[in-house]
Amino acid sequence: MLSLRHALRLFAILYAIAFPVQAAQHINVLLYHHVSANTPPATSVSPDTFAGHMQYLHEHGYQVIDLGQALSLIQAKQELPANSVAITFDDAWRNIYTNALPIMEEYNYPFTVFVNTDPVDQNNGMAMTWDMLRDIKQRGGTLANHTRDHDYLVRKADYNQQWLADTLANIDFAQQRLQTETGSTPRWLAYPYGEYNQALKQALKARGYLAFGQHSGGIAAFSDWQALPRFPAAGPYSNLKTLRLKLASQPMPVDYQALPDTVIRLDQAANNPPTLSVKMLQQEKKGVRDQLRCFILGTAQTPTWQSQQHWQVSAAQALPSGRSRYNCTAPVWGQNNYYWLSQQWLVYKH
Ligand SMILES: [Zn+2]
Repeated sequence: MLSLRHALRLFAILYAIAFPVQAAQHINVLLYHHVSANTPPATSVSPDTFAGHMQYLHEHGYQVIDLGQALSLIQAKQELPANSVAITFDDAWRNIYTNALPIMEEYNYPFTVFVNTDPVDQNNGMAMTWDMLRDIKQRGGTLANHTRDHDYLVRKADYNQQWLADTLANIDFAQQRLQTETGSTPRWLAYPYGEYNQALKQALKARGYLAFGQHSGGIAAFSDWQALPRFPAAGPYSNLKTLRLKLASQPMPVDYQALPDTVIRLDQAANNPPTLSVKMLQQEKKGVRDQLRCFILGTAQTPTWQSQQHWQVSAAQALPSGRSRYNCTAPVWGQNNYYWLSQQWLVYKH
């Protein structure tokens, strides 16, 4: 005779076979700055729009999880819950405390704030205070490094020893302030403006930092851990019609370590427009290769395939001074979503 307990157990086993727990190997991270209706539109979402984003995640099966936990799982090549998302805020604006924190607590969503420590130390009225930051941490938030002063890190005449020493001192100073004021702090840096170069990445790697940019895409084991992407979700990127495609996307499986350096000097005209050369980690089906597109300066470009795994693309004209991005997508074979790859470039004249 089958007891109720055994019947339930049998049911649980059959259910698990019929509906396997979905898992993923990547996470998509959203990037916000201001959550306010009265701050610069390009880097802001209104509290209503932000609440709409969180409600969308809640209602569409997304698992908002702790960024540190997610990164540990990915690095250990373990599986994450399907549809994992992490939420980050750069700059530690006070409106995160007043406007975003209550919404995050309503959903019980963890989040990370990347802090510039000088404005907090100066108690400038715009940034959170150390008391607010400690409170955020006590309520389940994570605090991490966004340099002390939010200066441009790679808009310099020379990338010499002095530049590197000054830059690392800036980052280490912020790390020390966070540790002193709030306790244990992960060695994560968000590059101001998402700007970095190869030399800085290597130095950060040697010091045990993971680092985040502002180019879009998801994070997987094959990511460049000193140039981790995030999807900007404010200003022009806050529209759920496009944000939902990004949330559902997967990181394009390419050799991220081999992507070209991001900085182009304005006086090196021969390098502008830059060529993005990419090596896929696997042979993609022809249907995927044929549908690869890159969106550059508002137009779609069809990359050139050199082999079944190598392709390249460049803008039709020289990139303007400042930051630009190449955003590339291709359909994931057999799935209703996209691979995503983005490279940010910085063209500047010192
Ligand atoms: Zn910032």
